[in-house]
Amino acid sequence: VKDNGKNNHHFFASFMNDKTERKMEIDKGLREALEKNQFELYYQPKMDLVTGDISGVEALIRWHHPEMGMISPVEFIPVAEEIGLIASIGEWALQTACTQCMKWQNSGFPSIRVAVNVSTLQFRQQNLVSTVRRILKDSQLNPKCLELEITESVMQNTESIHKLFELKAMGIYMSIDDFGTGYSSLSYLKRMPIDSLKIDKSFINDIHMDPTDTMIVTTIINLAKSLNLRVIAEGVETAEQLQFLKQHKCDEIQGFFISKPVPAREFEMVWTK
Ligand code: C2E
Ligand code: CA
Ligand code: CA
Ligand code: CA
Repeated sequence: VKDNGKNNHHFFASFMNDKTERKMEIDKGLREALEKNQFELYYQPKMDLVTGDISGVEALIRWHHPEMGMISPVEFIPVAEEIGLIASIGEWALQTACTQCMKWQNSGFPSIRVAVNVSTLQFRQQNLVSTVRRILKDSQLNPKCLELEITESVMQNTESIHKLFELKAMGIYMSIDDFGTGYSSLSYLKRMPIDSLKIDKSFINDIHMDPTDTMIVTTIINLAKSLNLRVIAEGVETAEQLQFLKQHKCDEIQGFFISKPVPAREFEMVWTK
């Protein structure tokens, strides 16, 4: 294939272009990112709409690539899943978030819950439950202070459902992320050990202008209430969106209007200011 002449080679080279090359770089770099300490967790507060207090934080992973700069998790998490690295990256995130939360408690900051995203593939890992148990033990964090954000697709696997019950029995707080974007039936909601629904930000953007979004959001809020679940909206960027959600009795919000995700040190200033 490779000595088909110069022209073909050129064609192939440009066809391979930026996208493939970038993917290959990410693939290669990810394999050593953990040992080279290139990941960092950023934290974004969740605000209780009744009390106005910070009720928790979501930990969001960042990758500082030495040459490519900051790479979004939207880009590298799927690659990590593909090449079998999601378990170790996910474990690092859990470990780091739990340790950080405990550190905050020990230095006298308010006791809040830290939420960690767990991808559906990571949930399939054989040792997920024992890993979480070990991390909680090592960090000494109260399981009530740990929240796992999972998506509806976790509920499609029987073994994952078992794990969900085991994690819940440990006292961990469970929420359904990106709620409303999946296609699964709603019947699982009454059977699953879930504490809260997180309304995806795609429904929040035009909450005022788009009657469909207005309806979807109010419906999710009412659904949560009638199932006795907490409900939180993500991607809240304006005072109008906050007002709307407050009026419609959404429990919590998260978004740039309150704060962007920031490094741990910067997050501490939210409390100290
Ligand atoms: P997600 O869990 O749905 O997280 C919400 C995303 O929206 C985050 O993007 C957050 O920074 C962003 N965001 C927050 N507030 C606003 C807002 O007001 N406006 C807008 N436009 N965006 C807002 P981010 O940090 O780039 O993360 C993207 C996705 O990557 C996450 O979506 C999550 O699915 C995944 N992810 C992030 N960290 C982890 C992790 O540690 N493990 C796993 N498995 N996935 C992660
Ligand atoms: Ca999330
Ligand atoms: Ca989302
Ligand atoms: Ca997500």
